Formats: sequence, C-alpha cells, structure tokens
Amino acid sequence: MGLVVQKYGGSSVADAEGIKRVAKRIVDTKKDGHQVVVVVSAMGDTTDELIDLAEQVSPIPAGREFDMLLTAGERISMALLAMAIKNLGHEAQSFTGSQAGVITDSVHNKARIIDVTPGRIRTALDEGNIAIVAGFQGVSQDKKDITTLGRGGSDTTAVALAAALEAEVCEIYTDVDGVFTADPRVVSKARKIDWISSGDMLELAASGSKVLLHRCVEYARRYNIPIHVRSSFSGLRGTWVSNEPQGDQQMEHAIISGVAHDVSEAKVTVVGVPDKPGEAAAIFRTIADAEINIDMVVQNVSAAATALTDISFTLPKTDGVKAIDALEKAKGQIGFDSRRYDDQIGKISLVGAGMKTNPGVTAAFFEALADAGVNIELISTSEIRISVVTRADDVNEAVRAVHTAFGLDSDADEAVVYGGTGR
Ligand code: ASP
Ligand code: MG
Repeated sequence: MGLVVQKYGGSSVADAEGIKRVAKRIVDTKKDGHQVVVVVSAMGDTTDELIDLAEQVSPIPAGREFDMLLTAGERISMALLAMAIKNLGHEAQSFTGSQAGVITDSVHNKARIIDVTPGRIRTALDEGNIAIVAGFQGVSQDKKDITTLGRGGSDTTAVALAAALEAEVCEIYTDVDGVFTADPRVVSKARKIDWISSGDMLELAASGSKVLLHRCVEYARRYNIPIHVRSSFSGLRGTWVSNEPQGDQQMEHAIISGVAHDVSEAKVTVVGVPDKPGEAAAIFRTIADAEINIDMVVQNVSAAATALTDISFTLPKTDGVKAIDALEKAKGQIGFDSRRYDDQIGKISLVGAGMKTNPGVTAAFFEALADAGVNIELISTSEIRISVVTRADDVNEAVRAVHTAFGLDSDADEAVVYGGTGR
C-alpha cells in the first residue's frame, strides 16, 4: 500500500478532543498499511486571533514579522498532534514547512511554492514515523525567511507534498462531507458530489466555493494528484477530484456541477469615459499597477450624443480603497467624469462542462433568477460557467432558486455541517 497525504483543517483540530480524534484516524490509516504524511492547520480560529492581535499593535501588519507570527499557529497544532499520536503508541515527528522542504518565493503573506525537497520527511517515513507537517508555510529560497502561502494555504501544502512524494492520494479532511452542489450552509438541500473534474472544481473555486482553494486545485491538476475531500467527523466517502474519473468513479452525467456564490467582491464603475482607443487600457493599467486583480469587466455602448461610455469591473472588497485611490490619482490622465463604488453586491455562478453542449442553460438560469425576483446587474461567461452580479441581499435566495431550477436538490437528509465557525 502506498503513501497517503492527509490534511486536517482548523475545525477538525479545534480543541484537545479534536486533536485526539484526528490522531486516532491517522493511526488507523497507518494500521491499514499506509505510509502517512499529515498536513495540519492551526487550531480553530487561531490564525484569525493572531491577526486580531497583530492589528492591536500595528494598524496594517504585514511582511516578515506577520509571517513569523502566523506560522506559530500551525506549530502548535503539529506538535500537539504528534504528541497525541505517540500517546496511542505510534511514532510521529512534526516538521515546520521549512524543515519539510517547502521552498517558496519571497512574497510575504502570499508566497508561491517553487520547489519541494522533502528529504527529512522521506527519512522520517523510512524510519517508521508518521510525519506531521505544519501547513500554510515555507521558507524563501533567497533570504531563507519564513513565509506563508495566503489564507487557507494548508491545502496547497498538502497537494505540493503529495506531488513531491508521489502519494497515491491527497485526502483533505474538512467539516463537511465533501464538495456539494452548493454551499450547504446556504442550501440545506445541497447534494454531495461523488466525483468532479479538476476543471469544474477550478471554476467553482474561482467563483467563491470555499471547500478547496483555487491554487490547491490548480497544483493538483498540473501534477495529476487525485484529491479526496471528506469529513474528519463522519468517515464517509467524500468527493474525488481528479483530471479523469478512476476505477468505479462514475462520470456524473449532470450538465451542471454546482452553484457557487461570492459576497467578497465590490463593483467599481468609471462613468463618462471617452469612447476612443486606449481608454480601457489606461484604466486597467492603473488598476494593474496597484497590484489589484479584477474579475468581471463590462463596458456599455457609448451614448451617441456624448460619445461617452461607462466601464464597470469587480474586484475583491479588500482592494476597494486602493483601486479608488489609484483611479483618482490617474483621473486627469485617463479622462473620465466620475466613479462609483458599490460593495453591496454578490455573485452567483453556475458551473458545469455539460453547458458547452446543452443549449438553453443560460436561458434557464436567467428564468430561475427572474422567478425569484432577482435583478441581474452584470453577466459574464466562460465555456463552462455563467456568472451574474446581483444585490448582496438577494444572493442566498438566488442560489437556492437556481439550485432547485437545475434539479440539483437532494432528496436525502439535509447536508451536515459538522464544525467550524465559518469565520
Ligand atoms: N491557518 C491558516 C488559515 O487559517 C491556513 C489554513 O487554514 O489552511 O488561513
Ligand atoms: Mg484555517
């Protein structure tokens, strides 16, 4: 039997009881004959609490010291987990990201993994240990400083280690039973998906689904690592995410994989932009130079009388102030009348490779929104996704309406959310 990488999120190890429960599950996997590498997140809301603490001593904590602080959360859980495993009579050793060979670039707070050299992990495994690795952290290649991978980064650590160690599977343990057709916190009739392609999963993650991080799925797709998302509370078979279905995994013949929603974005509208070449370029160069990622972009046809047009785009709310400042500074040079900022928006996305070959999906989506009395403000599409922006207040109802309209409601019991504060 092969090597298994298991990742446990903060809600699975929220307290001593949780750590003991997880230790038992890890030991059971080892007893089944596997070599086991475990990636663990900080206990419960520890990371958020550390951030709150940092903000009390400095208004915008960032950079090297912030990473030093945040990585402490995972060091606590990794050591406790190793102790709990030893207490069950099995050998375990814990490692920081740096000790595990997770090498990153030097962009503090959102570093990218550039290499994984897990020599010490291999040795620990060969000596019969269970290896516990602190998630979400690494060491920068040039300065040898401690870095973090961005919020939720433990998933990426797990997949990166699975790839470097050629694991047979990367199991991501969380507080729900797998990937659902919608967020079970919003849609109680959401259905667990047995198998989903990496492509559809990437779109769901990009559209606001929080069960797996976009970067983690991207990594798994590139290195062809199957992910099994499941609950550490129930032990049920969860959702397999892979490039192709394997073994008894059935290609579900659903046209739609799921409905994702996102209320973390805001909308900027630049009003009265001259309708001539170079204007959109100037606006988006300004935004790019401020290091802001944008999502949707919509430009209207210009009013014939004025030859002026409006351009709207969406961006993370957290970058809103930065974007407005950048536009104000460049106003003279770009040439526009005014700008508007709206952070009371939400986005609903329908995802599924089947929509490529099934006409009428867009119409049915809009009809479902219309029946629910939800007004659409922006629309964007890809080959396998349709997204709309609506009022933030309408999002939950819209998600439920679309979920029902596409026949995704489950007739089983309500989806269970086992833990987590949703923070
Ligand atoms: N503890 C980190 C966070 O809360 C990393 C993780 O949970 O994956 O973002
Ligand atoms: Mg966490």
